[in-house]
Amino acid sequence: MAQDALEQKQLPAYAIRICYDIIAEETPNRDALQRIFALAGLARYGESPPPMDSTPSITLREYERLIGVVWQVFDEIQAREIFRRVGQRGFQRLTRSGVLMYTQFLRAFDSIGTKRERVALAMGRLTAELTRALGYRHEFRREGEDFILDIYDCPYCAELLRRQIKPKEEHVCHIPVAFYQAALNWASGDPHTVQEISCRLTSGEAYCRFKIYWNVVLKERV
Ligand SMILES: [Zn+2]
Repeated sequence: MAQDALEQKQLPAYAIRICYDIIAEETPNRDALQRIFALAGLARYGESPPPMDSTPSITLREYERLIGVVWQVFDEIQAREIFRRVGQRGFQRLTRSGVLMYTQFLRAFDSIGTKRERVALAMGRLTAELTRALGYRHEFRREGEDFILDIYDCPYCAELLRRQIKPKEEHVCHIPVAFYQAALNWASGDPHTVQEISCRLTSGEAYCRFKIYWNVVLKERV
């Protein structure tokens, strides 16, 4: 994505508010939270959190930088936990908001074929909406029994790429993995597994590729 698009495109406030809330929950005090936001160049949110609404608030570049700071200050397991929670909460927020009218468009597909076909249509719509709202191109398609999602200019590894930071793990884009896992489970009523199968951090491609393994899931253990 062009540099000026990154600097100009503004994300809705809720995108940053969700990160703010999760980091606040995962850190022991306000100082830690303020420090993280200051490192990301977002000191303006150190004192008061952004609203949970769609006001244009931070640039894509700032969002990518905040994700990079989480990688910098936490270890890989802690960072993954924070990102997974951000993805899950992001999807929860979407189902509660009227922005995408998610339930309505899902219901519109009720008469169509198999559950997998309905979910494919719903996911196609969702990813098209996200392309529009966030400015990153999302391409979603079926592949045999499963689904493939490509996110171009993926923001979740952008800062690692820029700074040439290479975590031990090859797949680092945890936010969309958790987000789409929640979306799929919600849309189909059944759990499925989402994996990042190719990250541009190591692949050199323009996109990160995610695979949704339909009806493949581990049993929950307690
Ligand atoms: Zn990636």
